[in-house]
Amino acid sequence: MAERVVILGGGESGTGAALLAKAKGFDVFVSDQGQLKDKYRNDLQLAGIEFEEGKHSEDKILNANLVIKSPGIPDKAEIVKKTKSKKILIIDEIEFAFRYLKGKVIAITGTNGKTTTTLMIYHLLKNAEKKVALAGNVGESLARKVATEEFDWYVVEISSYQLDGTQTFRPHIGILLNITPDHLDRYDKKMTNYVNCKFRLIKNMTSKDYFVYFVDDAISGQEARLRSTEAYRVEISLDHEAITSAHFDGKKMVFQFGKKSFKIAQADTTLKGTHNLVNTMAAVCAAHLAKVPDTKIREGLKTFKNAPHRLESVATINGVEFVNDSKATNVDSVVYALGSYNQPLVWIAGGIDKGNDYNLIKADVEKKVKTLICLGKDNEKLKKFFGKLVPKILETQSVNELVHLALQSAEKGDVVLLSPACASFDLFNNYEDRGNQFREAVLKAKEEVEKIKA
Ligand code: ADP
Repeated sequence: MAERVVILGGGESGTGAALLAKAKGFDVFVSDQGQLKDKYRNDLQLAGIEFEEGKHSEDKILNANLVIKSPGIPDKAEIVKKTKSKKILIIDEIEFAFRYLKGKVIAITGTNGKTTTTLMIYHLLKNAEKKVALAGNVGESLARKVATEEFDWYVVEISSYQLDGTQTFRPHIGILLNITPDHLDRYDKKMTNYVNCKFRLIKNMTSKDYFVYFVDDAISGQEARLRSTEAYRVEISLDHEAITSAHFDGKKMVFQFGKKSFKIAQADTTLKGTHNLVNTMAAVCAAHLAKVPDTKIREGLKTFKNAPHRLESVATINGVEFVNDSKATNVDSVVYALGSYNQPLVWIAGGIDKGNDYNLIKADVEKKVKTLICLGKDNEKLKKFFGKLVPKILETQSVNELVHLALQSAEKGDVVLLSPACASFDLFNNYEDRGNQFREAVLKAKEEVEKIKA
């Protein structure tokens, strides 16, 4: 009889794992306590995979030889505890997929910057005509990719939850961007647990592999230097005088690999901001290690398009650039956004404040922001904090009105920046909805302005 693989959670990773397990001849069962999305239900039905929704039937789960758990299900969940008490092995979809893939893995983790860096590496390899797949948290699951096609390279965005469930997973190039306190609930509120989890990235790496990390980051940089690994270390720094594989000399990113060295200016890339220097240096190192020639790297950096809602330049109307940074749901992200522009700003902020400390951006706001437009139901905190710092404060709850107010407030050469520092749930479904509505309203306004001009 075929071994039984049970998958807990039928989202993208669970469905991907089920498809791969089926392709490898296992007896597969998917169990989801909630309802499946239509897409995944169809995928499972088409592949003839048995599944259940709205419950976990123990008699169908605890007879498994192997359980693959969705990264969203915590170890504390009842069904996970019961599975463990029966001594059934539980792994993550990433681990399962890794056991069957034949190419090399470039894995990207960190608290911030994962998606940007992952997409950039994928773009650089794709542009150099490598046979490369994009997988993990961004796009399709790794298991689905492994089930459907063979690739030479897999560029995989990995969260700490996914690293929790790895055992033999061994990236050829492992990238750790930074570690800041996040998701601590999952780690018994202990930072060391979270840090240890991130370092599972390098656990199985050998002398044939590369560990790329950002040394300046207080936690990940120090820890990376302290921990032993056989992998070749590739260090990144923003320090002008750092002697690392990649650093920023104040004007350009400088790369030094053995005797080979080259420089790239951020102006020759499509991204702005100091944080993106780090992401770009990591991506260039990975591409170089994957043997992408530097001419191709330069070419790719000029054509890279980041995921939407991250300092996304939407349009320019009457010489005013409109930027959608709706993903910035906390003050840390706004620090980077404000730091990315030297022009006068019309800044749009507001929504649900998750305990923001606006002191972090006080100086930059005072220096750069000429108008603050509050886009939220309750704007009192913003108004109180910035009332004396910003010459003009406006309020609205309508995205169309917002764009018109911004146009009236801005002059040629200014930037209108939606970087809210807050969650969006008071007026929108999520940050994507907020960003999409903003983009749409900006494009509509552009059309109107152009019609009047014509
Ligand atoms: P993730 O996938 O890790 O959430 P993203 O690439 O989607 O990261 O970027 C999300 C936000 O995090 C960006 O809008 C920016 O504000 C911030 N960010 C991006 N890269 C970095 C970095 N290297 N260091 C710190 N913050 C960053």
